[in-house]
Amino acid sequence: MIPRFRFAPSPTGGLHIGTARTALFNWLAARSVGGKLILRIEDTDIKRSTAAYEKSIIEDLKWFGLDWDEFYRQSERTGIYQRFARELLDENKAYRCFCTPERLEDLKKRQYAEGMMSKYDNRCRELSGGEIEKNLKEGKEFAIRFKVEDGKEIKFCDLIRGEISFRSEVIGDFIIIKSDGTPSYNFAVVVDDGDMKITNVLRGEDHITNTARQILLFKSLGFSLPSYAHLSMILGKDGSKLSKRHGATTISQFREEGYLAEAIGNYLSILSWAPRDGEEIFGIRDILGKFKISDISKSPAIFDVDKLKWINGIYIRRKSTEELARLCIPYLIKEKIIDKKDLGNEKVMSKIVKGVYAFRDNLKVLNEFPQYIKDLFGEKIAGYSKDAVEILTLDTSTVVLQSFLGKLESELKSFDNNQDIDFNEEKSKNLINMIGKSLKELKIKGKFLYMPIRASITGKTHGPELPRVISILGLKNCIQRVNQTLEYIKNNKL
Ligand code: GLU
Repeated sequence: MIPRFRFAPSPTGGLHIGTARTALFNWLAARSVGGKLILRIEDTDIKRSTAAYEKSIIEDLKWFGLDWDEFYRQSERTGIYQRFARELLDENKAYRCFCTPERLEDLKKRQYAEGMMSKYDNRCRELSGGEIEKNLKEGKEFAIRFKVEDGKEIKFCDLIRGEISFRSEVIGDFIIIKSDGTPSYNFAVVVDDGDMKITNVLRGEDHITNTARQILLFKSLGFSLPSYAHLSMILGKDGSKLSKRHGATTISQFREEGYLAEAIGNYLSILSWAPRDGEEIFGIRDILGKFKISDISKSPAIFDVDKLKWINGIYIRRKSTEELARLCIPYLIKEKIIDKKDLGNEKVMSKIVKGVYAFRDNLKVLNEFPQYIKDLFGEKIAGYSKDAVEILTLDTSTVVLQSFLGKLESELKSFDNNQDIDFNEEKSKNLINMIGKSLKELKIKGKFLYMPIRASITGKTHGPELPRVISILGLKNCIQRVNQTLEYIKNNKL
């Protein structure tokens, strides 16, 4: 028999990290054994479900590499749930409950006041045929409730947690079809898992108590029981449940911030699971065949954003510079460092590629890129750091800058008008060496040579290699900036 797994998100929000991991683990488990994966949209909560969330969940799942073989939407299956509910009614395993929401609310309050567990008091279980007829004739609204016999033990063996058991008296008769004709969550899940011949249910541990109800329904409907595995929660580093407080929590937020699909897939895979060889960096397809549900840990997973960043950095470095530049462009536009219309500007594009090349090793998340490169865009230096001012104050610095300016200008003369974009790192390196040589007699070298040059074109004393910075800026812009700095020194009497 081909194993059949399913992933069943509710489209009441974006794809959360925890739900994404459940989806991935189902995909890994199914694909590792040549099984089928079913995507089922659980949108029976019509008030909270939206088509937009469904679309974004599907987009996010595809984005980090998942695929599936069958697709269903619960809202399109109401007739099926009603048919199965009718069967249970006919077999006397379920009954119509005419209790009003007010009565149920009162019951709950009373039980609470008496320190009792909240549970339906089975009032409508005993209605006679005549009473039911009368209520129906009067047009009274009703829900359909499933009968749960007291005194039973419901036991199942969870593939991750071992044996779990519940007493049926803690459950009570529960609703399977609501008064508006839609199924309750537990009923829809069981009808679907049964009807779709699901063999393995792998989901979050928040569903463990539902599993008890679902097993009862499975048995009553005559479906064969799937195997169950419940994944532990994902906690923040502080040990509390992962929430908005911890930063981004949905896949689309991570995607927007500039995490790569490969990194997300990789990181989610190691939340409560690890390959036996201890390897940590791998694509989700690389572990197909190695992934086993029984190897999933039952302790909670800790979501460590720094580790995710580290992994993301690794995948960033695996990209070509051109591909990375393409991925970084939206962040430059967002930060208004470039404009959409610059996309056709060869000079700007070449600057971006050079910038990416310069900073690719530092980059952990794509949205950090504008911070690195912003000093190198625009005609002018935005400001000088304290260290930069300090070094520019030295008399020797003005001498260095004059020499630097002279060399830049004479280099520029050797190019035709706009050709300075071709001023590469090699040439930049030679230019600095030349300055060094010419200042040798004045004994200006090392830090006293490099720092003022850097400060004069970036306003900072630290950054990527100087020849790289010069090449990214280009001769004309370097000249402009050195002039700006000389002006600054003069005006501020540094
Ligand atoms: N729709 C449920 C959820 O989003 C999942 C139900 C299940 O996997 O059985 O939590």
